Amino acid sequence: MALKSITTRWFLNSFGVIFIILATVVTISGVAIHNYYYSAVKEVLNNRASMVDGMMIRYSENTVTSNFYTEIRSYVESFPDKNMMELMTINLNGEVTLTSSGFSYNTQNLPDYTMALNSSSGEGLYIGNIESGEKVMAVTRLVTPINSEFSAMRFVVSLERVDDAIRNMVLTIALAALAVLALVLVSGLFFIQSIVRPVREIGAAARQIASGDLKSRIARVSDDELGVLCETINFMADELENTEKMKNEFISSVSHELRTPLTAIRGWAETLLDTDNYDAATLKKGMRVISAETERLSGMVEELLDFSRIQNGRFSLVFQKLDLLAELGEAVLIYTEKARREQIQVIYNEPEMLPIIYGDKNRLRQVFINVIDNAIKYSDPGGTVKIDAFARDDDIFISVADNGCGIAPEDLPKIKTKFFKANHTRRGSGIGLAVANEIIQMHKGSIDIESTLGVGTTVLIRIPVNSPEDLPEQPSLLERKPENEQKL
Ligand code: ADP
Repeated sequence: MALKSITTRWFLNSFGVIFIILATVVTISGVAIHNYYYSAVKEVLNNRASMVDGMMIRYSENTVTSNFYTEIRSYVESFPDKNMMELMTINLNGEVTLTSSGFSYNTQNLPDYTMALNSSSGEGLYIGNIESGEKVMAVTRLVTPINSEFSAMRFVVSLERVDDAIRNMVLTIALAALAVLALVLVSGLFFIQSIVRPVREIGAAARQIASGDLKSRIARVSDDELGVLCETINFMADELENTEKMKNEFISSVSHELRTPLTAIRGWAETLLDTDNYDAATLKKGMRVISAETERLSGMVEELLDFSRIQNGRFSLVFQKLDLLAELGEAVLIYTEKARREQIQVIYNEPEMLPIIYGDKNRLRQVFINVIDNAIKYSDPGGTVKIDAFARDDDIFISVADNGCGIAPEDLPKIKTKFFKANHTRRGSGIGLAVANEIIQMHKGSIDIESTLGVGTTVLIRIPVNSPEDLPEQPSLLERKPENEQKL
C-alpha cells in the first residue's frame, strides 16, 4: 500500500472539504443573486404592465374609439420610462405597430406574445437574445382588443446591466472565497510542516537508536505532544541502554560463575589423572570437590533455564497439598553446614506447625534456598542469619534476616528485576530474585525486602493459605510428572 503523507491526507480531507464548501457557497449565492435580480426586473415590468393596462381601460371608457388609437400612440411615443425600457403595441396579426423608441421592430420573433396568446392569464415572458445579440427580458400582456391595431402591449428591458451587476457580485464573492482558500492553504501547509519536520527528525533519531546507537538522544522539539513523544523515546533509549548494560554484566558474571567451578573440576580431575599413587583421602577429597562443583554448575544452569522459561512464558508449576515447614526445613538444613564453614550462624526458629497449603514444593524450596543463599552470600564471617516462619490471618510468612552488607536505598526497588546486581563483589547472576519473585507471584504471594546499607537485610516472603480453586489452572493429572520431578 502506498504511503500517504500527512500533507496529502490534509489536502484531501481538510482542504478538499473547505474547497467544496466554498465552491458550493459561491454557486448557491450566484444562483440566488441571479434569481433575485431577474425576479426584481420581472416585477418592475409587470407593475408597468398593470399600470399601463389600467390607464388604457380608463382611456377606452372615456374616449371615442376613433380618438383612442391617437391617445395610445401619443402615450407610447411619450412613454415616461423609455430610458429604462421599451413599450410596444401589437396588433391582432401579431405585428408590432408602435414602439416607444420610434424604431421599427422585427415582428417575426415574439415568443412572449405567442406565450401570452396560449396562456390563460394572457401574459407571456421571454428572456433571451434579440437579433442585435443583446440579452433582454420581455413581458407581453394581452388587452381587450378595442380595435385591430391594438391587441397586446409588450415591455422589453435590456439585461446587459443587470447581468453585469450579477457578474460583479459573483466575482467579488468568488474572490473572497479564493482569498479564504489561499489563507487556509498557507496556514495549513505551515501547520503541517511544523508537524512533519519534527516527526521526520524524531523518526531519524529513533532509527539511529534502533540501529544500536543507544547513546543517541532526541532534542525536545516543542512543548506539545511531539515534545512528550521525544521524551518517551529518550526514556525508551535510557531503558534500552540500562538493559543492554545489565545484559552485558549478566553475561560476564554468568561466564565468571561458570568458569569458577569448571576450573576447580578441571584442576582436581587433572591432579587425580596425573598422580599414580594418591591416597584414598586425597581421591575422596577431589571427588567431593568435583561433585560439589558439578552440583553448583547444574544449579546455575537450572536457574538459567528457569529464567529463560519465564521469559518465554513457558514456566509452569505443579500444585499439590504441601507442608511448607518440611520444605523450609530442608533448605535450612542444606545451608546450615555451608554457613558454618563460612563462619556464619544460622538461627532457625522453627514453629510447631503451619497451615497446609497448595503449591509447588520444589519451586517453593528453590525460593527458600535462593533467599537463604543470598543472606549467607552477602554476610561476612561472624554474621548471623535468622529464619522465622509464622502464620497470620490467611497468610504464611517466612522471614530471612541477615546482618550483612545491606542494600543501598536507590538499589532496593531494582533488586527483583532481571540481571540487576547491586553488589558486584560477590558471585551471582542477578536473576535469582527475579525467578523467586515470579514463583511467589504465581502462588499469589509477595516478596518484600527491607534493607539498610551496612546494617543488614530482611526478606519477608508471604504465601496465602489457599485452596486448589484459588490457584491458576493446573495441568491434568496425566500430564503431571512424578512428584519429585519438576514439571516445566
Ligand atoms: P544474585 O545471583 O546476584 O545474588 P539475586 O537476584 O539473587 O542475584 O539478587 C539480586 C541482587 O540483590 C544481588 O546482586 C544483591 O546485590 C542484592 N541482594 C539480594 N539479597 C541480598 C541480601 N540478603 N543482602 C544484600 N544484598 C542482597
